[in-house]
Amino acid sequence: MLAEKSGQSWRPLLLSTAVTLALLSLIALSDRSSAPANAQTLQATGPLKWYRGNLHTHSLWSDGDDYLESIALWYRDHNYDFLGFTDHNVLADKERWIDVEKSKGKQQAFEKLKQQFPNGWVEERKTEDKLETRLKTFREVADRFNEPGKYLLIQGEEVSDAFQKFPVHMNANNVKELVVPRHGGSVAETIQNNTDALIAQRERTGQPMMIHLNHPNFGYGVTAEDLMRIRGENFFEVYNGHPGVNNSGSKEHASTERIWDIINSFRLGELQLPPLFGLGTDDGHAYHNIPSRASEPGRGWVMVLTDSLTPEKLIAAMEAGRFYSSSGVTLNCVTSSTEGLEVSIKADADVTYSIEFIGTRRGFDSKSEPVLDKEGQEVRATRRYSDDIGKVFCRIDGHAAKYCFQGDELYVRARIMSSRKHPNPSEVGELERAWTQPIIGPAAR
Ligand SMILES: [Zn+2]
Ligand SMILES: [Zn+2]
Repeated sequence: MLAEKSGQSWRPLLLSTAVTLALLSLIALSDRSSAPANAQTLQATGPLKWYRGNLHTHSLWSDGDDYLESIALWYRDHNYDFLGFTDHNVLADKERWIDVEKSKGKQQAFEKLKQQFPNGWVEERKTEDKLETRLKTFREVADRFNEPGKYLLIQGEEVSDAFQKFPVHMNANNVKELVVPRHGGSVAETIQNNTDALIAQRERTGQPMMIHLNHPNFGYGVTAEDLMRIRGENFFEVYNGHPGVNNSGSKEHASTERIWDIINSFRLGELQLPPLFGLGTDDGHAYHNIPSRASEPGRGWVMVLTDSLTPEKLIAAMEAGRFYSSSGVTLNCVTSSTEGLEVSIKADADVTYSIEFIGTRRGFDSKSEPVLDKEGQEVRATRRYSDDIGKVFCRIDGHAAKYCFQGDELYVRARIMSSRKHPNPSEVGELERAWTQPIIGPAAR
């Protein structure tokens, strides 16, 4: 099972007596030589590099407004190392011709395509006064763009399912075959059934693949309670750049970060499941008027630390928590150990940063109440929990900080907030951020 693999590889080893006595403190970063042997230090060194990627992308194969190869070019030109194409319930693996004028990108996308790819790359035909072009397959585009160590395109799919009126979208990356939505008798069962389908394909083909839960607050389809018990699926989108996905929640609905903390408190405190990791993604559909208020590329991404740019290595690294997510902030180093969590930022001039360490302690108040509307009717929403969950243990302004475990933490994660406004935000006033993955605390080992 993926869940067990991921959990085992992530869990640090035994806790020393000295560490259990450690007090909460913030200390300047200096000497790392005393770090225990089981520390996981995420830092580009030797063959290890940070690779920047987006794992949520739409094209003309579904409801995006541009061609695969134009999108691949955009990401390559904007300093990305890898990109997963994830159109809705389709793989770009067959012959398909589209009517240029009726397509989402219309003539504008087609002219841009011909300009970017001259010399016979673009195929067109005229039938009954209509101009058609053949959509390139994933393989054709990957063969043109993939360059070892430099740029990698990954075949994926947004498995776009629903339970009743609630959307349940999951991205399957590095798939070999289409995952047909499996449905289910509840939102949770729908998530589990699609997860199981991906795991079955992975086990049958032997090809590493990953699945993640997309935008839980899109149509407020997925609650913390739906997601917390899922097995074999350990990723969700804490940040999705589509303006319609409600990352920040609403009066009735928890934000994605609150959902994340609720889930990890229960997974690590009660359910004996591995932590859920948080991804940043674009969910881009609109590629022609950047910046505007549409779902555009370049808003959120992951930074994965590994020694080579292959789907296998990227997936293994992500399953082991060797990545962070960003909407603009770059990190130098993230160190997790039995002592705590340490973060240092690759700081930009004239920008200030605030580092928050967030987590939940053993014995937290796990009671919850339903959300009620004005008439007192229960709303289908993440329930309301105590402030014990997702507590900000400390916040410091600066470029580096360390949180030392007190001994009763189930997990801790860091959120880094920049003073700089996101240049193309998905929500008004959004600041650039980064999110480390939660690390398991002494109380959950
Ligand atoms: Zn979606
Ligand atoms: Zn999408």
